[in-house]
Amino acid sequence: MQKQYLIKNWRCYRIVNGKIIPPRSCEINAVDHCNIACMDCNHASPTAKMKIANPDVVFRDLSILSLFYRPAVIKIIGGEPLLHPNMLALLKAIRRSSVSKHIILVTNGILLSQMKDEIWAEIDEIELSVYPQTEFLLTPHMAAIYQSAKLHQVALVKYYYENFRATFSTIGTTDHALTQRIYNACKLARLWGCHSVHEGYFFKCPQSIYIPNILDKAVSYDYREDGVKIISTPDFPDKLKEYLSSRKPLRACRYCLGSVGRLRVHVLAKTTGWESAHAVPTEELVDYDKLSRLENGKGASDINKIQYKSLKYFIHHTFCF
Ligand code: SF4
Repeated sequence: MQKQYLIKNWRCYRIVNGKIIPPRSCEINAVDHCNIACMDCNHASPTAKMKIANPDVVFRDLSILSLFYRPAVIKIIGGEPLLHPNMLALLKAIRRSSVSKHIILVTNGILLSQMKDEIWAEIDEIELSVYPQTEFLLTPHMAAIYQSAKLHQVALVKYYYENFRATFSTIGTTDHALTQRIYNACKLARLWGCHSVHEGYFFKCPQSIYIPNILDKAVSYDYREDGVKIISTPDFPDKLKEYLSSRKPLRACRYCLGSVGRLRVHVLAKTTGWESAHAVPTEELVDYDKLSRLENGKGASDINKIQYKSLKYFIHHTFCF
C-alpha cells in the first residue's frame, strides 16, 4: 500500500461525498513558540518569536474548508500549544467549524498537569511527546495526568523521541534534481498528508510555513507563496486538489530534507547552536540510504510501537520520523 503511494500516487487524498479526505490529519499551530528548544523541531520553534493563533481566524478558515474538506482529525500543535492563553476559545472555534469530530492535542506535557478540566473536556486525544531531556519533568505528574485522561475519557498516546531527522538547511541546495528527489520521497506531502492551516492559507506541510523565517533576508520570501488562500469561491476545491496533486516542489523544498534528513540524536538547542547546526548544505544533511529506500518503495514506515499501559488511556511509542 505504502509502496503504491510513494511511487505512483500523486493524489494524496480521497473524495468522499464530494469532500476532500486527507490520509491523516490537518494541523492548527496554536502558537509558534515553545517552552523547550528541540534542535531538529520540524516547526523551527527554537527560532520562533511569540505568536498566538486567533480563534476567530481559525474558525473562519476551518468553516470555509469544512464545505470542501474533511480530515478525520484536527491536531492542535505548536510550538507548545499549551502556551496559548485561550486554549478553550481555540478548541470551541474548531468544534464550531464542524470540520472534524476528533481533536488531538500534541504537547510535550510539561504544562499538562496544570490543564483545566474544561479543556480536558473538549479534547478527544492527547499525543504526548517525550524526550530524554524532559522525561524527568513529567514523571512526577504522570499519575495525575493518567487520572485526568481516564476521568475525561481522553485517549493518551505517548511518543518517545530519542532521535530526530534533520529537517532544515538554511543554505539549501541549487541542485534542482536533488530538490525534486527530496520532494518525491516526502512522506509528509505524499503519504501522510500533514496538512496545515495557518492565518488564512492552507499548506501541504508545516515546514513550508516556517522555512522563510529561518532564511537569510536576502533569499527569503513570503511563506504564503507555498500555500493556497482559503476563500469561499466555486473554484476553491479545484485549486486545492490541484495543489495537493502537484508534482512540482514547493519553494521551501530547496531548504527542507522532507523525510530523508540524517538521523541525529535529540538535543535541546543552546542560544547559538541552532544556527550553526542548520547552516549546512542540503547535500550534507541527506540520508542517501533512506532516500534510495523510499525511491524504491521501501522504508515508508519507521515507527516502532511499544504498548505501555492500558490500551485506551496510555499507549507508549518509540518514534523516529
Ligand atoms: S517543504 Fe517540501 S520536502 Fe519539506 S515537508 Fe514540505 S513538501 Fe516535503
